[in-house]
Amino acid sequence: KIEVQNLKKSYGSNEVLKGLDLIVKDNEVVVMIGPSGSGKSTFLRTLNKLEEPTAGKIIIDGHDLKDPRVNMNQVREKIGMVFQHFNLFNNLTVGENVMLSPVELGKMSKADAELEARELLKEVGLEDKFNAKPQSLSGGQKQRVAIARTLAMKPDMILFDEPTSALDPEMVGDVLAVMKKLAKAGMTMIVVTHEMGFAKEVADRVIFMADGHIMEEGKPEEIFGNPQNERTQEFLNKIL
Ligand code: ATP
Ligand code: MG
Repeated sequence: KIEVQNLKKSYGSNEVLKGLDLIVKDNEVVVMIGPSGSGKSTFLRTLNKLEEPTAGKIIIDGHDLKDPRVNMNQVREKIGMVFQHFNLFNNLTVGENVMLSPVELGKMSKADAELEARELLKEVGLEDKFNAKPQSLSGGQKQRVAIARTLAMKPDMILFDEPTSALDPEMVGDVLAVMKKLAKAGMTMIVVTHEMGFAKEVADRVIFMADGHIMEEGKPEEIFGNPQNERTQEFLNKIL
């Protein structure tokens, strides 16, 4: 469970997050949409402590991220993050990329991690790529490896920041299919995306963000079918 209270983030005099309140329940899939520069990525990064909030509270599964007694590495291990650019290690094989963190952090023996990596690669449809180098993969395949790598840490929740935006259109479906499967399996997810089909089909809730505020939130059918906020209407008119 993620609880966010009056979250603010400024870069110098630029206030990017202007007081966000949000609760994401376990097993919930939240899709976040909004114009460029509205603070979506910044928000995800504060949840993962890649950014320090300027003010406000973030409580993850009851742990206040500001509490000095909270072991941040442990919290971070529980929150997976998948980015637009996948950042795989090109000098390692696909399998080694997936095994790396659990082995390095001493979570698993190499043998167990390999079994697990093979299983995860199967789940994302890449069982035959264990020994391949990332360079030999398409963008969509790389992103699915990145998802498998995130899953190898057994996260309680995964934050996705435009996971399909850098992909050729024909690759998008495979990646969304993997995300949909995760959602169905009960993974707690916050997904920043422009894929409105995915949002309509998979999201429990859609959040529209603009100018560092949550302007509107609701069920997909409410936000897409009957948006109340003028900014939401304007945004949807532009992209749909
Ligand atoms: P997009 O849809 O283009 O990805 P976004 O909603 O994810 O946009 P952010 O990347 O969160 O938006 O950026 C919000 C604002 O914060 C922008 O004005 C950006 O310039 C600013 N910003 C983001 N990161 C930094 C940083 N590290 N230093 C200074 N300013 C930043
Ligand atoms: Mg962004």
